[in-house]
Amino acid sequence: MSDSLDYDLIVIGAGSGGVRLARMSAGRGARVAVVESRYLGGTCVNVGCVPKKLFVYGAHVRDELEDAAGYGWNLPMDSVSFDWPTLVANKNTEIERLNGIYGRLLENADVTIIEGTASIKNPNTVVVGDKEYTTEHITVATGSWPVIPDIPGKECILTSNEMFYLPQLPKQAVVWGGGYIAVEFAGILAGLGVETTLLYRGDLFLRGFDEDVRRFTEQEMRKKGVRLEFGVTIESVEPENSHYRVKLSNGDTMDTGLVMAATGRRALVDGLGLTELGIELNASGHVVVDDYFQTSVPSVTALGDVIGTPQLTPVALAQAMVLSRRMFGDGEGEMDYTAIPTAVFCQPNIGTVGLTEEEAREAGHTLRIYRSEFRPMKYVLSGRDERCLMKLVVDDPTDKVLGAHMVGPDAGEITQGLAVAIKAGATKAQFDSTMGIHPTSAEEFVTMREPVA
Ligand code: NDP
Repeated sequence: MSDSLDYDLIVIGAGSGGVRLARMSAGRGARVAVVESRYLGGTCVNVGCVPKKLFVYGAHVRDELEDAAGYGWNLPMDSVSFDWPTLVANKNTEIERLNGIYGRLLENADVTIIEGTASIKNPNTVVVGDKEYTTEHITVATGSWPVIPDIPGKECILTSNEMFYLPQLPKQAVVWGGGYIAVEFAGILAGLGVETTLLYRGDLFLRGFDEDVRRFTEQEMRKKGVRLEFGVTIESVEPENSHYRVKLSNGDTMDTGLVMAATGRRALVDGLGLTELGIELNASGHVVVDDYFQTSVPSVTALGDVIGTPQLTPVALAQAMVLSRRMFGDGEGEMDYTAIPTAVFCQPNIGTVGLTEEEAREAGHTLRIYRSEFRPMKYVLSGRDERCLMKLVVDDPTDKVLGAHMVGPDAGEITQGLAVAIKAGATKAQFDSTMGIHPTSAEEFVTMREPVA
């Protein structure tokens, strides 16, 4: 650490990874500043995980209301109303509270917050507005931003960023894409009473997830009234009076009140001056780093969404811990990207950890597959036609559980525990010898006796 420089570390971007890195590093005695041009907390807190989950809860209330009758509650659905501005306003209050917490966390850790847009002038200088700050280390933690394909009428299309602040809900909506964000928003909109169509260019959405999970989710989303159209994409969008006319690749047109693109996210590196500095970006535009987050310029590191590793908050947090320890701690530790659990908060939720059946077969494993489908107990009295899927992918010779997958209520909550077992290398015999918690859906994961394949 050099006293002739203003800081030991300047972090560009106060999202999950950047804030964690700043705090951890300051805790190790480093003089740290964070530069942020928008909001504290980044995508996750402001226009991602947190508000999305609040909207998912909001959308799910409808199911709870409908299910109430089976339990003897008299709540006629025609007397129930939903007010979108209330949900958005309450969500905004919560996000502001979290922004405040992030600010206090940084201040209490003695991290300087610099508001503005940063660019890197040279390997040890960051410029923000008309000020220059010198530093030993610079970390780029600027995250990612939604991409809208370049089609006529692109300017009429919203992304998840705007959806969180939509003034009013339309009667109909088209969601374009077949990844995490598309299925989550399709579920939110449909749950809140919007006639929702999801358009996906491939044969089946959620590419990369286990095939059974994809098919099961398709079936359950259709049952919930989401119109799913695969093998089709949007060619143009045109405003027409109070709606939008959407032209599709199959020659059809659709009229809708809103078009949302959930067609992926790109690394946010605009104006940083990375290429001018000789920092390499890969073909997808992500910053190229080595296993220790080092870019091609020795004093500059990068982490989180901007480097193209799984775009998940816990991944960015773990990267920040490794990097901080490397820069200002004992230098030990490295990232382990195996068995990262993840949940998709569509309705019902998906929870997944480890290998899909397809990945395991491709890797040459001889497998036993355990699969169970059932109606969750909660829905028996209400008569809801919603089912749950659980699946274990087991390596036959070693009995090791390679992957666990679920579609159903609380899949994310249940999968977190399974992730510990899978990370620890648990065998199917150990799953079998684990007592179930009765009556739960989760106990099915320790009671699947006969392989289906
Ligand atoms: P994804 O990369 O997951 O999905 C993008 C989707 O858009 C894919 O279905 C893709 O199709 C489609 N697509 C891409 N380009 C085009 C195009 N030009 N025309 C038509 N369709 C296109 O991105 P998301 O935006 O959904 O999410 C980004 C990331 O954010 C996720 O990967 C995830 O890591 C993270 N995230 C995590 C969440 C969670 O943990 N619950 C929630 C939300 C986001 P194809 O499959 O054919 O490539």
